[in-house]
Amino acid sequence: MQDQTKLIHSGYVPGNKDPRQVPIIQSTTYTFDSSDDIAAVFDEPTHALIYSRFANPTVMAVEEKIADLEGGAAAMATTSGQAATALAIMNLCSAGDSFVTSSEIYGGTSNLFATTLKRFGIEAIFVDQNASEEEIAAAFKPNTKALFGEIIANPAMSVLDVEKFARIAHGQGVPLIVDSTFATPILCKPIEHGADIVVHSTSKYMDGHAIQVGGVIVDSGKFDFTNGKFPDFTEPDESYHGVVYTKDYAVAPFVIKARMQLQRDFGAYPAAHSAFMLNQSLESLDVRMRRHCENALKVAEYLESRTDLLNDVRYPGLKSSPYYELAQKYLDGASGVVTVDLKGGREAGTTFMDALQLVTRQVHVADSRSCVLHPASTTHRQVPDEQLPAVGITPGLVRLSIGLENVDDIIADIEQALAKVEG
Ligand code: PLP
Repeated sequence: MQDQTKLIHSGYVPGNKDPRQVPIIQSTTYTFDSSDDIAAVFDEPTHALIYSRFANPTVMAVEEKIADLEGGAAAMATTSGQAATALAIMNLCSAGDSFVTSSEIYGGTSNLFATTLKRFGIEAIFVDQNASEEEIAAAFKPNTKALFGEIIANPAMSVLDVEKFARIAHGQGVPLIVDSTFATPILCKPIEHGADIVVHSTSKYMDGHAIQVGGVIVDSGKFDFTNGKFPDFTEPDESYHGVVYTKDYAVAPFVIKARMQLQRDFGAYPAAHSAFMLNQSLESLDVRMRRHCENALKVAEYLESRTDLLNDVRYPGLKSSPYYELAQKYLDGASGVVTVDLKGGREAGTTFMDALQLVTRQVHVADSRSCVLHPASTTHRQVPDEQLPAVGITPGLVRLSIGLENVDDIIADIEQALAKVEG
């Protein structure tokens, strides 16, 4: 099946007289006829439902759909993108381990890596994703267990060279984890380019309507965890009946281990109703992504003509972008996010943001409605101007998320707001 068909049909095939829609099984628990039946599901936990902290039929339908779209072996949904990233790293690294990550990543992920995981003894080693393979490889230590990058970085809008990252990771015997939130499986399938694990914040385009926060981890099933670096995968898990993930669950050991250990112990699993809503949104993902990309390219082209007020327009779909070649190679469209740098700095940034009428002010991107954020006066308002470049932004940087409205209306709104900046 092609993507458009998978979006509609994967994960749920109704039988005779079954409901047409994916049923919402809003139940924490499941019933059993006998103690033997319960014992049997504990012996074969991935084949049966035990408790909705780590498995639920409605959620599993969406997991199957997303795994299918990514070309993965299995997927596990989480209550947020942050939870997906945290669990993906914690599935590989224990206290005393490290992982290497691109520094051009979403600020929340950066905080999770540099501050919170550090508190639990896991070290994040930040690298420049545009450095040479040799330079990035030199950052690895004997205790390094993963390499991480974001396919389209939020808000830097840089594009990750996935094949280069995969070569580096595999040369070091560790899996490559790619956050593909901005691309979705419609614009890029990182597994086809060598990624081993894909994570998403489904709160962005997959949901697309600003309804709910969620995340997902997809396991390619292709990484060889028996290379000696990952005893947690190859030795019996005493906390789960002595299972050996690479032996007993060889098809998707990463996701099964994440579900049976981390989801069991941390419980970041979405409710059935959330999965139902996500499934509904996914049905239109292909149509929406095409329109987001088409509108954003037109807006970026218009903004490029405004050199009177703007220093820079960052959109990898623009021929002038330093990431144009990588975008052509890896992406079928550059998403709906465009960032600009206003010449007038912080003041111009706030004037522009406040003057927009159709485009709404939101601490969010990837909504069906166009939205805007000026980080220097909002999320990063405590950071002095001279320190902003160190966190990847400038005083005049504004992030626009182009929605599904008529593009002429969006451009007209931006034009009138720029006129206010002009004074
Ligand atoms: N990854 C990227 C690229 C993001 O943009 C975000 C949120 O903005 C996240 C992860 C975190 O996702 P969530 O907000 O669903 O926890």
